Amino acid sequence: MNHVVLTGDRPTGPLHLGHYFGSLANRVELQHRHRMYVLVADYQVITDRDLPGEIQRNITELLLDYLAIGLDPAKVMIFQHSAVPELNQLLLPFLSLVSMAELQRNPTVKDEILHSSQSAVSGLMFTYPVHQAADILFCKGTLVPVGRDQLPHVEVTRLVARRFNERYGTVFPVPEAMMGAQPSLKGLDGGKMSKSRGNSIPLKATEDETAALIRRAVTDADRRITFDEERRPGVSGLLTLAGLCLDRPPRELAEEIGDGGAARLKSVTTDAVNDFLRPIRKRRADLDEGAVRAVLREGNATARERAALTLEEVRQAMGF
Ligand code: ATP
Ligand code: MG
Repeated sequence: MNHVVLTGDRPTGPLHLGHYFGSLANRVELQHRHRMYVLVADYQVITDRDLPGEIQRNITELLLDYLAIGLDPAKVMIFQHSAVPELNQLLLPFLSLVSMAELQRNPTVKDEILHSSQSAVSGLMFTYPVHQAADILFCKGTLVPVGRDQLPHVEVTRLVARRFNERYGTVFPVPEAMMGAQPSLKGLDGGKMSKSRGNSIPLKATEDETAALIRRAVTDADRRITFDEERRPGVSGLLTLAGLCLDRPPRELAEEIGDGGAARLKSVTTDAVNDFLRPIRKRRADLDEGAVRAVLREGNATARERAALTLEEVRQAMGF
């Protein structure tokens, strides 16, 4: 089956291993067989903070990360919210399709409110899953590679698509989520690895930075290394990371490390991560920032054409 794939990330900081194993690895795979749009979700940066911050710098960094992991600009349309007004206009009819209660009970929104750095929770925070429906449906996306935290949002998109079709006649496909090998990778503090929670290993970190980050990871006093996610979250998190990078079961690594303790575990994990990321980091260092920004301009133009077609179809269906 031929899919239209839509995914994206907020330009809030460098991409990390959670992104890689949650979603990016799938994107690299899918780009060869399907039409794919990748969204730099710049407007969504202000869902959980007051100001967009170093937005241009963060966008450039995100683009560098995309190309470094192997997204091919000849195959993938990379674009940004703020350059595609027609996409954002879909938010208006879509908001009419969901109830306040549905917005308020979204578990991911609740979690993000807990971690938000906003002075007060904004209306945008509650409505951004509907904005995400506009992201996915503007190109009639059918497949959405995401981490686990995004599943409630893909559900909102499915709801919006179904309700729109029921009220106004079929315009949209009902898309499906696709989770990666590790749909919710833990960060170095045991919580979800996140750009803005200071607990991640950025793809672009240097080998020394990576070593320092892993050295600071919380483990426990038991010298014998075992894999037990419930009772030993810190140790198991590192084993999971090393296992993903080495493509080996974490339990097997635990047995090998045995009585080597946290020091040995951290050194094995550091080597695994650095070996895994070396080619990605090398590609990143060779990229030209100007060329990378040109990729975004081209993607924006294509996305705009696509969004205008969908918006026109929506207007017609609604009788405007
Ligand atoms: P922020 O802290 O700014 O929200 P984030 O690290 O949560 O950043 P997002 O841009 O919100 O990253 O998410 C981009 C994509 O990466 C989403 O599909 C999300 O599900 C996925 N993702 C984010 N963190 C993880 C993780 N720890 N494990 C697996 N997938 C993840
Ligand atoms: Mg997030």
